[in-house]
Amino acid sequence: SSAETTYRRVMLKISGEALMGDQGFGLHPPTVQRIAHEVKTVHDMGVEICMVIGGGNIFRGLQGSAQGMERTTADYMGMLATVMNALAMQSALEALDIHTRVISAITMNEVAEPYIRRRAVRHLEKKRVCIFAAGTGNPYFTTDTAATLRANEMKCEAIFKGTKVDGVYDMDPAKHAEARRYDVVSYDDVLAKRLGVMDASAIALARDNNLPIIVFSLDEPGGFRGILAGKGTYTKVQG
Ligand code: UDP
Repeated sequence: SSAETTYRRVMLKISGEALMGDQGFGLHPPTVQRIAHEVKTVHDMGVEICMVIGGGNIFRGLQGSAQGMERTTADYMGMLATVMNALAMQSALEALDIHTRVISAITMNEVAEPYIRRRAVRHLEKKRVCIFAAGTGNPYFTTDTAATLRANEMKCEAIFKGTKVDGVYDMDPAKHAEARRYDVVSYDDVLAKRLGVMDASAIALARDNNLPIIVFSLDEPGGFRGILAGKGTYTKVQG
């Protein structure tokens, strides 16, 4: 890999909402293309890239169940939403000449590869971007947990969680001018103070495997590449 970064293999987690632009719902192709470009700048460094994209821009199981749907069914709908987002990202990455595989935790062979760990590792070694879709394949989980699970299985060095803000704050920086960003924060503090980095099961799974989580802003052009090169502001969640 390039001299610019010490990372060899990383997981990029983004929410489904990161793909909806200002529309408030669904997919906004120019936004998908912009994020694909950010991924390309890191791919160009020689870093092996895993991705997990949420589904909240299309459907969330909890919302469905609050409106009377059976929870498991609603969660499967949420997982299917992540497959649509993964396909949109694959299309945008391939338009930039980056070989990409969508790997689904729910088998749907016409649309995506099934998840086979060794096969996914091989794709990464060949510098193909692997987008892990359909979450963990199980209801009652989230894509944050899926990202942590796959990052562990793929032996990623860190999870990069791209958000709207440049790290983790002690209070909501959109509401409080005095909010302060942590440079480093422990998994236990994230859990105890409910800092809302990722859900508790994802944080616990990262903690138990010593997998650092780096929270950074995806709105900053060149931000992802910069963070990998050790520049810019971010928060590192670690032990
Ligand atoms: N989901 C699930 N199991 C998983 C991952 C996701 O059931 O392993 C469902 C769940 O209903 C969730 C939806 O898929 O609400 C979309 O995922 P998520 O809420 O994590 O998306 P994000 O908030 O990151 O856009």
